Amino acid sequence: MYRITIREGKDKAPRRHHPWVFSGAIENIEPEATDADWAEVYTHTGLFIAYGWYDEKSHITLRLISWNRKDRPGEDLVRRLAREAVARRKPFFSLPDTTAFRLIHGDADFLPGLAVDAYGRELRAVVSSRFAAHFLPAIAAELDSVLHPDLLEAVTDRQFASLEELPERIRHFRSGMETREDENRENARFIENGIWFEAAPGKGQKSGFYCDQRDNRRIIEDYAAGRRVLDLFSYTGGFTLHALKAGALSVDAVDSSESALRHLLYQVHLNEDRNAIPTGSREKVTTTTANAFEWIRESEEGKYGMMILDPPKLAKTKGALDNAMKAYKDLNRVAMLKIAAGGIIATFSCSGAMSRSDFQTMLAWAAADAGVEIQILRTLSAGEDHPVRLSFPESEYLKGFVIRVLK
Ligand code: SAH
Repeated sequence: MYRITIREGKDKAPRRHHPWVFSGAIENIEPEATDADWAEVYTHTGLFIAYGWYDEKSHITLRLISWNRKDRPGEDLVRRLAREAVARRKPFFSLPDTTAFRLIHGDADFLPGLAVDAYGRELRAVVSSRFAAHFLPAIAAELDSVLHPDLLEAVTDRQFASLEELPERIRHFRSGMETREDENRENARFIENGIWFEAAPGKGQKSGFYCDQRDNRRIIEDYAAGRRVLDLFSYTGGFTLHALKAGALSVDAVDSSESALRHLLYQVHLNEDRNAIPTGSREKVTTTTANAFEWIRESEEGKYGMMILDPPKLAKTKGALDNAMKAYKDLNRVAMLKIAAGGIIATFSCSGAMSRSDFQTMLAWAAADAGVEIQILRTLSAGEDHPVRLSFPESEYLKGFVIRVLK
């Protein structure tokens, strides 16, 4: 184990339990660093701060994990953190009509760079740190011993592969042991608030589904009935299906991914066949493969009574925030111009670098430019299986509002 001293003036954030320490904040490391390993971390005056994982190849050199002096850093600690994260989700295991939810939410659950979701009997993990890649086998073994899933599939987050010098690979674990799996195996099938979904093996985006929008998909049901709905950035139709369930007049789904839209239609059929959405729903849906930012400019004015705007992460870093604010603003401004008077927009940002107040400011600019009045009806966030750790504000990445557009 290394002993690391933090530079004078740089220890405020780590002492307040922020988990990220960059190389510039490190004054000294003993013995001389070679491989990645655990570290005990001290202020320059010699006070203990935390235990962390030191890895020079990671873009976050030191990731703090436990501020409890009595902990013993090692694989057992990692396994215990995984077990505790699962135990905190206990209420989710007995929900009557939902079998997809997040079990481990990265630093918010003290496991940096690791997201694990349950999709029915399968677990899907997304690895975005060298720490998570290193401890994946131990975490897989622990999850197996507490949950006995059919399979755990782990993919590398493409956005972080080069930042963390991680190979893009897919790993599988059965009964806690690493295995080789057939790429053509069956999709994982699960339900979310009564709607059936499937996630294809090893492809898709992230872990194949966005379970962070679960509560918000249910909330949009309150507004979709009797309205023509536009689901912009629909992916595989999470919002589309809930809008149909609620009795939308029609749903137009737009996404740049043709395969996601094919899967959306498949899921509409699956749910209609299982009577989870009204008969005739499949005739109400259209899909369009397009750049949504362009497409909406050409869309018919006044057609839609409801829009869902769920773009991908536009601000990847704080440095990219200014440009991203402009892109979000333009999207929302055009939506406000196009929607019918009195229409409802559910609008989201999943950029961790953009705060909720930035997001609200952006909406105010968009409304001013569009010449409309906006009423905020609901404030939206990820579900409580994606907790926000107060000492780590970046964990509040998903924010949204349901707004009414008055013209
Ligand atoms: N609302 C979805 C999740 C959306 S994720 C759900 O509930 O599951 C963001 C989506 O935006 C992805 O499906 C991605 O394919 C799509 N996307 C990214 N850039 C796009 C663009 N320029 N135009 C249209 N879709 C885009």
